[in-house]
Amino acid sequence: MSTICLTFDFDALSVWFSYPNTSPAMLARGEYGARVGVPRLLEMLQRYGIAATFFIPGHTVESFPAEVEAILGAGHEVAHHSWSHTDPSTQTPAEERADMERAFESLRRVGVAPRGFRSTTSPAGRCSTSTAGCRRSATPMAPPPTARCG
Ligand SMILES: [Zn+2]
Repeated sequence: MSTICLTFDFDALSVWFSYPNTSPAMLARGEYGARVGVPRLLEMLQRYGIAATFFIPGHTVESFPAEVEAILGAGHEVAHHSWSHTDPSTQTPAEERADMERAFESLRRVGVAPRGFRSTTSPAGRCSTSTAGCRRSATPMAPPPTARCG
């Protein structure tokens, strides 16, 4: 028997806002992921009896509440993925802190106290030099063991 960990970024439109020339096609792709991709993923996960973690930016939580409710209703974990899906290495510490706290508030409003955080940058897990400090002051949680900061 093997154990795997399935995680998904449910970024929807938020991922495209950080691109310099966001187009209607990009936004349509983001909405497609929310309206079509999420239900398909949930059906597949249910079919195979798999629990997963969805990393969801606060912007997506607020823009697609029915999809977030479906994820939570299916028993999956929802975790912190910033509010705006902005690369934290491009933010000042104050901007990063505000974005992170705004995401916590979005998640709190849907009943989620996240136990995990995934940075929005690639390679996955890249953070700014202040990411861990922002998290510690925004929540009593310890930083995730997989976070690589600096
Ligand atoms: Zn993402």
